[in-house]
Amino acid sequence: MSCDFLELATPGVAALQPYQPGKPIEELQRELGLKEIIKLASNENPLGPGQKAMAVLRNPKDIARYPDGNGFSLKARLADYHQVESNQITLGNGSNEILELITRAIVLPKHEVVFSEHAFAVYPLVTQAVGARAVVVPARNWGHDTEAMADAVTGNTRLIFVANPNNPTGTWLEEKSMRGLLQAVPENVIVVVDEAYFDYVRVSDYPDCTGWLAEFPNLLVSRTFSKAYGLAALRIGYSVSHPAIADLLNRVRQPFNVNSLALAAAEAALSDRAHIEKSVRGNEAGMQMLTTEFSKMGLNYIPSAGNFICVDVGRPGREVFNQMLHEGVIVRPVDNYGMPDHIRVTVGQESENRRFITALKKVLAV
Ligand SMILES: *Cc1c(COP(=O)(O)O)cnc(C)c1O
Repeated sequence: MSCDFLELATPGVAALQPYQPGKPIEELQRELGLKEIIKLASNENPLGPGQKAMAVLRNPKDIARYPDGNGFSLKARLADYHQVESNQITLGNGSNEILELITRAIVLPKHEVVFSEHAFAVYPLVTQAVGARAVVVPARNWGHDTEAMADAVTGNTRLIFVANPNNPTGTWLEEKSMRGLLQAVPENVIVVVDEAYFDYVRVSDYPDCTGWLAEFPNLLVSRTFSKAYGLAALRIGYSVSHPAIADLLNRVRQPFNVNSLALAAAEAALSDRAHIEKSVRGNEAGMQMLTTEFSKMGLNYIPSAGNFICVDVGRPGREVFNQMLHEGVIVRPVDNYGMPDHIRVTVGQESENRRFITALKKVLAV
């Protein structure tokens, strides 16, 4: 080919580094010929979806028809669940789409987007994609420094991303810091609070920001069905915001961005509180087991409010990740997050957690 197509790309896109997903099980099976592989790399619910969602998925309806582009039924359920109006809910093809939609709707190349060091990889990606300037605020004890983030706001700032808890660090913000940030930020700066792991969180003073919209109209809270609800493959998430912000998102989204199976399964999953409770209990027990083992091995870890944890392996995490692959265990290296000596592991089922610890001990020979 004689044309350099990369030269056609907009400046933001030309400099983009694609998101690196967790390694799929099938790929590792092909590469290494291993049979028993466990994947603890993408923070999915190890129990999968609950019975109610599965019942819906076994009986798909009207697949030949376009889905309800307004997601009327699910939005009504979500509005009831969060005690807001339906016009405050926006559905996304995963909550990642919500993060992208808000950025595309309001951020130009001359604008700045503020987020923390070690924060979720999608924030720099969506910022870069629109060619805007990313203002990365140094972390404090691996977590968001909300005062420094508020100080980083200038007249050019359009958007602040806050992950609570954050992925990959698992760090969380208590009510006071979150409220302090929102109070310090001018109303024409949108604050996105990403609560992807909300249902897993059981720490005290953890705020449910969906209840703060009346106080802070510039707040947009995103949630997902990909984690505790166990529906990652279906791609469905949503935001709760001021209706005028929801209106902006609806202008830029595709008319049928969420498929009908996802809509129906999400509605069923939302009502299945027993499955969430069971998932959270399993996560708490697994987290306890992992942290106890890390301590016994003399490894430092970052306390996490999510269903995953970063542990300092005292050597390049990418090497440990590669060696763990040969043991049939997929974890996540986090060098691309500025954490070269950590690996991130998702809390799995009890047997998976045991296999992970056995493999880690073998690899680190401790
Ligand atoms: C997993 C995750 C998401 C959710 O992504 P989906 O697109 O909803 O699957 C969003 N934010 C963070 C911080 C996450 O870790």
